[in-house]
Amino acid sequence: MSSLLGATMIGLKLISVALTKNGSSPLPLSVPPPPPGFGILRAKRNKLLDKRARGVYPQNSMKLATLLIHNGHDTDSATGALGIPVYQSSTFDRGPDFRPDAPPPPEGRLDYDYARSGNPTRKALEDAAALLEGGSDGYAFSSGVSAIASVLGILSSGDHVIVAEDIYGGSYRLLNTYFKRWGLEHTAIGALNPETIRAAVRPSTKALFLETPSNPLLKITDLPACCAAAQQAGLITIVDNTFMTPLLQRPLELGADIVVHSATKFLGGHSDVLAGIAVTKTRELGRRVHAVQNSFGAVLGPWDCFLVARGLKTLKVRIEAEQATAARLADFFSRHRNIEAVYYPGLERHPGREVHAAQAAGPGAVLSFRTRTVEQALGFLGKTRLAAPAVSLGGVETIASYPVRMSHAAMPAAERDRLGISPALIRISAGLEDADDLIEDFDAALS
Ligand code: PLP
Repeated sequence: MSSLLGATMIGLKLISVALTKNGSSPLPLSVPPPPPGFGILRAKRNKLLDKRARGVYPQNSMKLATLLIHNGHDTDSATGALGIPVYQSSTFDRGPDFRPDAPPPPEGRLDYDYARSGNPTRKALEDAAALLEGGSDGYAFSSGVSAIASVLGILSSGDHVIVAEDIYGGSYRLLNTYFKRWGLEHTAIGALNPETIRAAVRPSTKALFLETPSNPLLKITDLPACCAAAQQAGLITIVDNTFMTPLLQRPLELGADIVVHSATKFLGGHSDVLAGIAVTKTRELGRRVHAVQNSFGAVLGPWDCFLVARGLKTLKVRIEAEQATAARLADFFSRHRNIEAVYYPGLERHPGREVHAAQAAGPGAVLSFRTRTVEQALGFLGKTRLAAPAVSLGGVETIASYPVRMSHAAMPAAERDRLGISPALIRISAGLEDADDLIEDFDAALS
């Protein structure tokens, strides 16, 4: 390795000497033959860049773990850097493009004019997200909620959406306040299945919007069956895949049309960035989402794109470790005398477990439990030393959320009670701490 580096340095030095000697003219320049191994590396990189330029990165031939690392933007085309640079630029030099007689830009040129429409760092993240979800186009937004709002923004006033009743509280608020004022109607359904979907369809219905597992009770919806029913009725199915990530569940392969994420959660993974992602199955839908992204402008900044892209690289190891801890915690809570119910798709008696197992590769790293009394729940949140009582999930640190005061605070109390989101309910997002330490801490916090 060091001899390779040394030989490369000598080569670069010769080039720079030739350049200095000849002033601004790079000719004549005698370039030494590449050191052994270097040519192979460069050929590999050129092949990769060529594939990227032609848009034929071999997406189906690699497993997701590999795509997290090698996603078409793993090598910077300008410098060869192993990692996408943070292009902290709001605008881009258009060269002679302003001239009426300007020739069309060369094929394959990455075309940027203004960062609301596109930015290379954002594009790298967007392409990686599309690749991982198996979609055609990816878009990165300033938050999960703005991704959801922008996707719903492809609909029009007077349109109608069928939504799962127990979606994330912020999505509920978006539909019940903001979009309601703009005339987008919706019907919330408790048990989503092909019959309830068909019964809710109106002439103006355009979309179905759901999460599975749901938040915070981890209810399972049969994705292939519901997507098929929606498709028969001519609806677009939008799935919030935040809890699962594409590593555990790929809704587009199961019939959905658009996947959204709060990338603030597992995709970013370090509780240090607020971000959202939308991936469309088709170019046509992608164009519609991009039109809203560009018009509305809720885009993710380059630095935050870098943070999410960096988080993606370790998604596999994080989700596997966090999921293993969540399974241990679910088992521990199930046996605890002060716990009345545990909600986790990995538990044998969890309703919909088989359906989930058929459409996802694992139960995930989020679970909820209900204590016997509200005091016990409040006592747990006050006494735990390792879980942060906080909003959010999917970070490297274990988080204990209190849905009635946090994620579902926007929902009226009567509605929460009806859905079973009780003041004795706590949602846990397992982090990367040692599971034994967490169990010891939780045991003490529950006593
Ligand atoms: N979707 C789900 C399932 C969530 O849990 C959240 C946030 O908690 C969101 C969407 C909203 O994402 P953000 O907070 O990044 O706007």
